[in-house]
Amino acid sequence: MAVNQNATAAPGAIAPGAGTFSDRVRDAIRHGELRLAFQPQADTHSGRLTGFEALSRWRLDDGTVIPPDVFIPMAETSDAINILGEWTVRRACETAAGWMQDGVADVPVAVNLSARQLEDPGFARTVLGILAETGLPAANLKLELTETALFEHSESSREVLTQLRGAGVRLVLDDFGTGYSSLSLLRRVPVEALKIDKHFTQAMVQDRDAAAIVRAIIDLAHALGMQAIAEGVETNDELLYLRAYRCDRIQGYLLAKPLDTAQVPDFIRRLAATPTGG
Ligand code: C2E
Ligand code: MG
Ligand code: MG
Ligand code: MG
Repeated sequence: MAVNQNATAAPGAIAPGAGTFSDRVRDAIRHGELRLAFQPQADTHSGRLTGFEALSRWRLDDGTVIPPDVFIPMAETSDAINILGEWTVRRACETAAGWMQDGVADVPVAVNLSARQLEDPGFARTVLGILAETGLPAANLKLELTETALFEHSESSREVLTQLRGAGVRLVLDDFGTGYSSLSLLRRVPVEALKIDKHFTQAMVQDRDAAAIVRAIIDLAHALGMQAIAEGVETNDELLYLRAYRCDRIQGYLLAKPLDTAQVPDFIRRLAATPTGG
């Protein structure tokens, strides 16, 4: 069964009660309410598996799932995001290291970061500590940042990114084109890939302007020596466009919805059995 993303609860269901939201998050981690789902990414042309993105889920005891669009913004207003973010990195690294040890897969895992995590001058040390603890090679960890996080970033967060990049951790710019940044940002931040937001991917087949934007992002990525990853790929037509535009990677329901950890080995076996990946 895929992670149930349809059952959603009102934010009130995760209200902190007597304590702070940070306390509530610690509590949720302790009680196993927080989970990661893993969504595969593949090479656009060969269909070969290229990695997974870890996506957070908050499942209450009664089975309702609160999506990250609800609880991440709540967490971002306090240091709850640092607690949640550290847990996410640790859990993703443990899981990916486990896949390597068990011979399931040796591919990078991508974790989403919030701007506030980069403001913590100890963040790089925390991440490198988790890599050492779990045995995951730094090159198997990707961190997804948004333009806004980078645009607002201070001198100290730039230092954090430099430290991480220097240690071999890989950086990706998420939701490219939806945020608020200048293109000169791309020259200052050592990102290796641009992710095309799903709104562009999904409008592309119907809307010439969206198609032009998708093509321009892919060409821009390549001109800068980066890769382009399209998210939200749901249809075969979208895949055909992305192949024609030479997009490097795809992620979306066409390949798979975000999977429970237990579903991953089976998914990988099935993908390997279909060489062109559809
Ligand atoms: P994102 O990083 O851009 O992740 C992609 C979102 O698109 C995910 O939503 C994913 O489930 C969804 N998606 C993937 N393929 C398709 C598709 O083919 N069609 C459609 N309609 N949607 C697709 P999700 O999991 O609800 O996450 C939403 C956002 O929440 C993420 O957007 C990310 O910004 C944030 N997020 C998730 N987990 C974390 C986390 O651990 N930390 C932080 N800071 N943010 C997170
Ligand atoms: Mg992302
Ligand atoms: Mg995205
Ligand atoms: Mg997005």
